[in-house]
Amino acid sequence: MECEEKRKILINSLKYNGICDKVLDAMMRVPRHLFVPDDYQETAYMDMPLPIGHNQTISAPHMVAIMCDLLEISEGMKILEVGSGSGYNAAVMAELVGEKGHIYTVERIPELAHFAEKNLKKAGYRNVTVVQDDGSCGLEEHEPYERISVTSAAPEVPRPLIDQLSTEGIMAIPVGNGEQQLVVVRKDSKGNVSYEAWGGVIFVPLIGKYGY
Ligand code: SAM
Repeated sequence: MECEEKRKILINSLKYNGICDKVLDAMMRVPRHLFVPDDYQETAYMDMPLPIGHNQTISAPHMVAIMCDLLEISEGMKILEVGSGSGYNAAVMAELVGEKGHIYTVERIPELAHFAEKNLKKAGYRNVTVVQDDGSCGLEEHEPYERISVTSAAPEVPRPLIDQLSTEGIMAIPVGNGEQQLVVVRKDSKGNVSYEAWGGVIFVPLIGKYGY
């Protein structure tokens, strides 16, 4: 079966998770097989996390979809992602923000920052910048961000990420050791911050100054 056919089947199956059409359409446009190592090409369109080396994974498509959905991403937004991994999630968000928006994605492991950058270039994304650094401190250079997506689990929501979230901004971040909760952080127009637990998730740990 061709990649596009497999992709259609995968995205159709995600409809039943209640994901909005805008996110499903964006995922339909991203060739996930370009973000998956050669050894896993056959499973690129299965709804599961896959190894990308260095004990890290590309997240399962349903998890990418859920996080993008919770973030309520619109065209033109500036977004910070912590944990580039393969670059796939950044590519989906790049589709959602369009040419006028931008994704800054920070990866701690130099080889994976290079992997993400290579994959994003191969897939043709120009509105994504990959930075190799400790993303638990955020990325001060380009703050504030209208949305922040953290794809590894933190002991608590890092203070710098709250500070770098713009007013009326939304952040999605897994929090906890062992049992993790996906937390949606909202900052209102006056700068007040609220937290809402979405549900249980499993992510690799956020390693760094404000991580483990
Ligand atoms: N979003 C990725 C994708 O689409 O492939 C999957 C990310 S993977 C589940 C989590 C990533 O977070 C790993 O690549 C890991 O190296 C990275 N990570 C962990 N701690 C980090 C930190 N402090 N700063 C930046 N990246 C970090």
